[in-house]
Amino acid sequence: MLELQNVSFRYTPRGNNILSHFSASFGEGELVAVTGRNGSGKTTMTRILVGLEKPSEGIVSYEGNDISAEDASARSRFIGYVFQQPDRQMFMPTVREEVAFGPRMQGLTGKELDDAVENAMRAVDVAEEADRYPRSLPRGTQQRVAIASAIAMNIRYLILDEPTSGQDGNEKKRLISLMNALRKQGITVILVTHDMDIVASDCSRVIVIADHEKAYDGTPENLFASEGKAEQWGLAVPSSVALGRALPGSPYCKDMVSFCNAYMK
Ligand code: ADP
Repeated sequence: MLELQNVSFRYTPRGNNILSHFSASFGEGELVAVTGRNGSGKTTMTRILVGLEKPSEGIVSYEGNDISAEDASARSRFIGYVFQQPDRQMFMPTVREEVAFGPRMQGLTGKELDDAVENAMRAVDVAEEADRYPRSLPRGTQQRVAIASAIAMNIRYLILDEPTSGQDGNEKKRLISLMNALRKQGITVILVTHDMDIVASDCSRVIVIADHEKAYDGTPENLFASEGKAEQWGLAVPSSVALGRALPGSPYCKDMVSFCNAYMK
């Protein structure tokens, strides 16, 4: 279990709180969406989880231990992070070397290293790009390379920052099925997103950040069950939910969401 316990955060000592008394826990195999208006603190929250920022107050804990003092490289043994612009995290001349970088730093060598790299590249479907320069690839492929780099390190948590924004339908579908496959392997996926269709159809839980605090933490069904609830935090209504509301006497239900998403695909 990875937890934020009563975390407050400001970028400068005299600055305003970006997060105030924020607590959240992430269990095994969840696909959790983190959403909220632009500037609400979603990226900041994930940067604290991954160790790129330290809480001003409160702690980050992993399996009951306070890991607040551990930096991002120490936390990379169990948590992977895919930036919104993944080219910013790619420095090696080929995809294979990029994916090998993390496990090599962890001490893997020889066949063990080769197997970890090949398996990770196959899992995200970038094996054919193994000898290409990562920064020359389309953003969707770069994201999958970044995911491969995390998988090769045997992580338990994967954070993806707005992975589907600006992606075409095929790349979106690929990412969604990849996230679901990772989840089935027990990896917890934390997805920063504005895409409420994905929240409604694929996420087990959704956290909404508003006014520096956690405004909602629960199922997508409950979030969209009553009109106005999601909208008060500036969230769009998923197309499936909008359709359900438009049909008289058809309350929102998961079957409707699944049906509409299958239809739209
Ligand atoms: P979101 O991901 O929800 O759009 P962010 O976490 O990126 O929000 O930003 C939350 C707030 O923190 C915004 O007001 C943003 O301007 C501010 N902020 C983000 N990064 C920095 C930084 N490095 N220094 C100072 N303020 C920042």
